[in-house]
Amino acid sequence: MVCGLKGMMWVGNLEKAARKAAVWLVNKRPIRDIRDWGISFSLWPVHFTTACCGAEFAATSAPKYDAERFGFLPFVASRQCNLLLIEGTLTKKMAKAALWVYEQMPEPKFVIAMGACAIDGGIFWNSYNIVRPMDILPVSVFIPGCPPRPEAVAQAIIMLQKKIRKGELVKYEEMEVVK
Ligand code: SF4
Repeated sequence: MVCGLKGMMWVGNLEKAARKAAVWLVNKRPIRDIRDWGISFSLWPVHFTTACCGAEFAATSAPKYDAERFGFLPFVASRQCNLLLIEGTLTKKMAKAALWVYEQMPEPKFVIAMGACAIDGGIFWNSYNIVRPMDILPVSVFIPGCPPRPEAVAQAIIMLQKKIRKGELVKYEEMEVVK
């Protein structure tokens, strides 16, 4: 595109330049801090229950622990979620499903691995059929225990929020722009 303005001439792709300017702007302080603050309190985990850890995750969302006060709202549709919580054992079969769900989620997106099974296989350690989430997904926080209590899940959410606010996880430059 060619654009003339008061004797000046600008040649280039206006859309590309606008995108570049937008990326530059959202990465500048204080906009970057506000952006990360907003993302940290807008975590929508997709339900991805693979094993018994799912019961503890359900308890975290129940009224007693009230995860919503952290800005954490369990959801059902992967295309509206930005947090994949692997709740326990990940078998080879379910690993494919986890990847499928992760790829459908919009950016920026995060992963938490919950339980001993999701860290190193737990009681299925060294089994022929177990996949460690960290080998196929960018896991940001691990929750140890078998099973981890809802307090541990809440702690993991707070840790993830702190990482997001520190600017460690959200990199807009690397994101694919959806047209
Ligand atoms: S860590 Fe324990 S509670 Fe969680 S899925 Fe494995 S066996 Fe079940």
